[in-house]
Amino acid sequence: MTVNDDSPRDECGVLAISTPHGEGVAQLAFFGLFALQHRGQEAAGIAVSDGQRARVHKDAGLVSNVFTKAALAPLVGYHAIGHTRYSTTGASHLRNVQPFLVETMHGPLATAHNGNLVNAPALRDELLARGFGLTATSDSEVLTLMLAAAGGRTWEERVERTLPAWKGAFSLVLLAADEVVAVRDPWGFRPLSVGRLALGGHAIASETCALATLGCSDIEEVAPGEIITLRGAEIRRSQALTPASRQARCTFEFVYFSRPDSHWDGQTVHTVRQNLGRELARESPVEADVVVPVPDSSIPAAIGYAQESGVAFNDGLIKNRYIGRTFIEPTQDIRERGVALKFNVLATNLEGKRVIVIDDSLVRGTTAGPLVKLIREAGALEVHVRITCPPITDACHFGVDMGHDGDLIAARLSVDEIRDHIGADSLAFLSLEAMMRAVGRQDGYCNACFTGVYPIEVAMAQPKLSFDQVLA
Ligand code: SF4
Repeated sequence: MTVNDDSPRDECGVLAISTPHGEGVAQLAFFGLFALQHRGQEAAGIAVSDGQRARVHKDAGLVSNVFTKAALAPLVGYHAIGHTRYSTTGASHLRNVQPFLVETMHGPLATAHNGNLVNAPALRDELLARGFGLTATSDSEVLTLMLAAAGGRTWEERVERTLPAWKGAFSLVLLAADEVVAVRDPWGFRPLSVGRLALGGHAIASETCALATLGCSDIEEVAPGEIITLRGAEIRRSQALTPASRQARCTFEFVYFSRPDSHWDGQTVHTVRQNLGRELARESPVEADVVVPVPDSSIPAAIGYAQESGVAFNDGLIKNRYIGRTFIEPTQDIRERGVALKFNVLATNLEGKRVIVIDDSLVRGTTAGPLVKLIREAGALEVHVRITCPPITDACHFGVDMGHDGDLIAARLSVDEIRDHIGADSLAFLSLEAMMRAVGRQDGYCNACFTGVYPIEVAMAQPKLSFDQVLA
């Protein structure tokens, strides 16, 4: 069972490393992936190449469970890619765990992907019509096989030729016998950054927090539409596709996904989250005694709200950080107390108080009600819920699993109805304009899940499990 959690599901984290000396490349990949664990907790994998051969180790579970010392030992080489997974396309089957490693006529090829292609069904049909057999059910396998079959003298050329056919979100890293190549979609949906390793070579990662963990300097964003090739200590950068005229960075990276110490688009995530809290305090003030975050992602926003409003900040909810996903079937009593498994209240900070609860998002609306109830049971006089983004009314087709439109509470109910549903004294969402003020940009971002206006055509988008229904 999944412990009751109303957050959008994390997507995936990718990593690539190239070193001239080949010392501990798998260990470096392990520590980089460890820093990306928040982007996916279902499975992890690392592939390494030594100039001729590539090896992969991958499995379901957290990075620290999948990679024991014994599992890392055979992963010897100069280049590595890694992946932490939350399934956005394809159920969480082992066959979908990345990196994918295939043998091609040009040597080994492994790929790891964050994002979602909206035209994957058409591309998949094309591969099937050309006689390819497919073993996995995710769009990442489609990318891999298209690359394997592409014409061109180098992997860089093959990526460049294949790239125009991919529509949607992709921050992709690929490993060949003697190089790694990274590419980011021209809309810039998902983050991807590159940095220089202190001992020589480079690393590329979904978030800068992983590059900081590896001690990288000269950290820069991979530009939308850019291809980076790393070989030993060499780095080659080329703008393969012109960045889309309407950029579409995912605003949710700031609101929820990215680690607060990561930087993106010239901003620190923590600073933006504090700004979200400040904007929320300006837009939706309320008389209260204490501001309480829903830990962990809402802590910076609650600090910002408290600073702007003058209402004291304090902890009121303590999160069990190790709960993750459990596969033990719960008893009925435990099932009903799903939220209590994940959060406990600090009654001394809530009793007799008018409480403002700051949360980053309200997706299906399954957690907010039980949380409000817990806070009231702890003796709070009033509970006011404030959300640091607008109501989520539309599904994401770019790699974030929020469920479908029917699952989204704000697609069915008005704000007042949601307030009644969760049992709060008041409920307010941040407006789109205020959210973008907090981000510091008025355009260049995707806000489709709040507005229903998709930056690219999504008519062919598929439900997450549609390929699995064929292969089931
Ligand atoms: S629809 Fe929402 S979650 Fe998906 S990419 Fe756009 S902003 Fe991000």
